[in-house]
Amino acid sequence: MATSFPSNSHLSRDPSTEFISIEQLRRQFTEWSASTRHSQAFPHREMDALRQAGYLGVTLPGAPLDQRKASTAGLLRLLYQIGQGSLSVGRIYEGHINALYLIGVFGTPAQQERWYADARAGHLFGVWNTQMGDGIHFHPTATDDLRIQGSKSFCSGSVQVTRPIVPGVLHDHNGKELGWQMSVVALDRHSPPVDASFWTPVGMQNSVSHKIDFSDIVIARDELLGAPEDYNSQPHLSGGAIRFAAVHLGGGAAVYEATRTALRQAGRTADPYQRTRLAKMAIRLESGRHWLDRAGHVNDHSTDPREIVNYANMVRTAIADYCSEILQLAEVSVGVRGMLHPHPLARLHGDLTTYLRQPAPDATLESVGQYYFNDAPSD
Ligand SMILES: Cc1cc2nc3c(=O)[nH]c(=O)nc-3n(C[C@H](O)[C@H](O)[C@H](O)COP(=O)(O)OP(=O)(O)OC[C@H]3O[C@@H](n4cnc5c(N)ncnc54)[C@H](O)[C@@H]3O)c2cc1C
Repeated sequence: MATSFPSNSHLSRDPSTEFISIEQLRRQFTEWSASTRHSQAFPHREMDALRQAGYLGVTLPGAPLDQRKASTAGLLRLLYQIGQGSLSVGRIYEGHINALYLIGVFGTPAQQERWYADARAGHLFGVWNTQMGDGIHFHPTATDDLRIQGSKSFCSGSVQVTRPIVPGVLHDHNGKELGWQMSVVALDRHSPPVDASFWTPVGMQNSVSHKIDFSDIVIARDELLGAPEDYNSQPHLSGGAIRFAAVHLGGGAAVYEATRTALRQAGRTADPYQRTRLAKMAIRLESGRHWLDRAGHVNDHSTDPREIVNYANMVRTAIADYCSEILQLAEVSVGVRGMLHPHPLARLHGDLTTYLRQPAPDATLESVGQYYFNDAPSD
């Protein structure tokens, strides 16, 4: 790391699990990263390590980062560390944390008990909202269960995620549309067709963000989560962007480290231009970490949903810009040798460039301006 970022070494987990700090796991993920990328597959070793160390349950009630408590800054540091170790693992893990968060906000007590027990038992959760023209519809059956029609794209983790949140359009018995409804589909009880050929990205291969066809799966009413349109409610929808921003910045830290190592190995550390570029990278990283810490505070302590959403919009925009600049500085510093696989920078470059593509960046920035014209209190 360029400079200090408070660590999460204090996290104590389920006493039955062996204590493994997230820093140890991050170093392990970095060591595995070349062979994991080579596999192009789901990162089993990494996700098993997180599971065994208790991190799948770290935000559940009573756990060190209990989501009902003021734990967001700690969670963002955790996501940063995981992203630094592996952006694909960070993407899959962030989806798991997001799903448990939504269950915590919108689930009934009985659903929370059931799905939290599943998470403790090692089930991986995710949130698969993105779809194309052939998206998801829920139609009631004669027995008042729900038959699913349609597909999701970008299903990170693919069928290794056995408890995905799958939103779609809920219909009543007359076919009328009731709104955008979340469901939790138990994929260990179904085997939907998976289109892996959909996932041909320039990076992030290991997030295995496949297209999955849920058609003809029948689910019970109590597998619906919340009410129609709950998924789109604020600050929950946009406020969550601080989590993927934390993973992005972890990727930026990995690019910084790989650049520093490459320049040391090439004996190019005495050059003033190289020093200046490394300085700029370090400054952007440190700025991003300040944004994340402040975002954790705002998220935990603000009572104004508009402020929480606006802050998340600013954080994701600022960190995306820092990461893009870090990538550019790394390219110029190391040169083309850093673009040849298996150089670590080649992998990190592809991963971060791909993962930085998140929905509607223009509208996000525009809404920040709108907030300061219309909603923000005067300074
Ligand atoms: C590695 C990876 C994993 C993912 N995993 C998941 C997952 O597990 N679950 C999930 O639900 N999704 C997932 N996604 C999808 C993700 O959430 C976004 O939907 C996706 O990344 C959107 O990126 P985009 O660049 O296509 O965005 P877009 O919003 O299409 O933006 C592209 C450009 O178009 C502009 N634009 C947007 N809307 C308009 C408009 N109406 N008019 C004009 N211009 C417009 C934007 O500002 C931007 O400049 C994943 C994506 C990636 C990259």
